[in-house]
Amino acid sequence: MVTDKIICVGKNYLDHAAELGDAIPEDPVFFFKPPSSWVESPGSVVELPKKHGSVHYECEIAYRIAVTNGRPSLKAVTLGLDLTLRDLQATLKKKSLPWEAAKAFPRSAITGKWIAVDEFKDHLKVPFELLVNGELRQKSTGDQMRRTPTDLLGVTGEFFTICDGDVFFTGTPKGVGAINPGDVLTLRWADRLQYDVKF
Ligand code: ZN
Repeated sequence: MVTDKIICVGKNYLDHAAELGDAIPEDPVFFFKPPSSWVESPGSVVELPKKHGSVHYECEIAYRIAVTNGRPSLKAVTLGLDLTLRDLQATLKKKSLPWEAAKAFPRSAITGKWIAVDEFKDHLKVPFELLVNGELRQKSTGDQMRRTPTDLLGVTGEFFTICDGDVFFTGTPKGVGAINPGDVLTLRWADRLQYDVKF
């Protein structure tokens, strides 16, 4: 399956927008990562960018999109990491410049094993967690999102073409923080999914 793009939405959990000190946008904020930034189920150490300051983890529910007869749908789901050059992003935001460069670097999109949405229908009600070196840092449920994934998918279609195989990151809850070399991040979705990412 070819992936045209990784679609991401920002500030989709109110508690995360508050921790960044950002105003709550009325409309969803979209940004992209190129497929070349994507790492699926990394088996070895993930190298962090060496320049431009801190790299933050953002644990998110991510979907694989299928397009059938021109209609996109959420086919499979997993937990992923939207890595962000937070210092660079803050600098660009202050200058009112686009902050794409803080989001689209190599290895900035990480996903785990895909689960068919049909086999995990209540996934928005099941708590997901992110642990750093065994310590809980993020915990939420998908039903805390401001806009549901299905709703967001409809909105994205107004702005760009959604292609079969696209990946969709749906935003992060509060608790984001910096990653240091040597850290092990554990993404856990109850008894449905668990994997480690080593940096
Ligand atoms: Zn994010």
